[in-house]
Amino acid sequence: MSNAPTLSDFRRIVVKVGSSLLVDAGAGRLKEAWLTSLAADIASLHKDKRDVIVVSSGSIALGRSVLKLPKGPLKLEDSQAAAAVGQIALARTWAEALGHHSITASQILVTLDDTEERRRYLNARSTIAKLLEWRSVPVINENDTVATTEIRYGDNDRLAARVATMASADLLVLLSDIDGLYDSPPHLNTNARHIALVPRITAEIEAMAGDAASDHSRGGMRTKIEAGKIATTAGTHMVIASGHVENPLAAIEAGARATWFLTPANPVTSRKKWIAGSLEPKGTLTIDAGAAAALRRGKSLLPAGVIRVDGSFGRGDAVLIRGPDGAEIGRGLVAYDAEDAGKIVRKSSSDIALILGIEGRAEMVHRDDMVVGGA
Ligand code: GLU
Repeated sequence: MSNAPTLSDFRRIVVKVGSSLLVDAGAGRLKEAWLTSLAADIASLHKDKRDVIVVSSGSIALGRSVLKLPKGPLKLEDSQAAAAVGQIALARTWAEALGHHSITASQILVTLDDTEERRRYLNARSTIAKLLEWRSVPVINENDTVATTEIRYGDNDRLAARVATMASADLLVLLSDIDGLYDSPPHLNTNARHIALVPRITAEIEAMAGDAASDHSRGGMRTKIEAGKIATTAGTHMVIASGHVENPLAAIEAGARATWFLTPANPVTSRKKWIAGSLEPKGTLTIDAGAAAALRRGKSLLPAGVIRVDGSFGRGDAVLIRGPDGAEIGRGLVAYDAEDAGKIVRKSSSDIALILGIEGRAEMVHRDDMVVGGA
């Protein structure tokens, strides 16, 4: 893609909404009309068979207005407690706005740990997949109430990028108070030039976002570029567009000024690179010749094709997959821990519930969670 794409090019879209767009801090209330217009945009994408996920900020801002807290910075525990109050209002708001279009909203609250730790990552990922299959629109925020300083995202731009890569979204939309990236800060330089298309995030692009040391604001351009790096290296395109218009997604579709960050990779390839390259296998599944041939044709690994389980691993850990002759066929993230995997070796998927007493996944390693070597 050398020209700027449009929304209809994408199948799964994460829309990130910042607090200042949703909450009128001065008046201490929600910007209802704007939210209604955004919900209409989301509904039209949804109707068009697109999967939509919302990453919504606003819990702290809403909480502080409900609690009538004084203006100015809040201490960590104060903002966490405010988030506990505001998140209820935020969830209700989204449920109503989407419900108006007969869309079922769902809420997911995550911390940094939930997306960095593989097992939790996989769990959150399959929950999102299930919700999308049910045509729900998940509304996601950081679990501000429990996130301690060390496990906080702190800003929803990076959280949205992680969510987008976790959900294998092909587009991340950052609705912002600015219509994209400029080659210098537009509020300081009237000659600042708007950048419409970023084919790749280079050092020069990073420099345009400003110096990390001088940018203390959460959600500034710096964190947006960080989000862009996360998204584009994992195969997700990103667009920064202004949220200061009604129907902001329709505006993007109509060609409103925005900055598009393109990804050179496609989602599956990147995800598989991540599986292939960045994880330490914790065990080995040895499979029969039939299963080996099926894997090479792009199929998932079913318990019936597994003849041996070695190692000590948990659900979601990376494992090596070897053929009957011991040659490595690939690696993947296993859906069962070593003990359960051992019990269902050679068994038909329909017997899993009977053997383990739980309704597990039909696949030992799903093809989306697996990379098969060149052989
Ligand atoms: N999670 C925070 C909230 O909902 C906002 C963080 C951000 O906007 O970057 O209030």
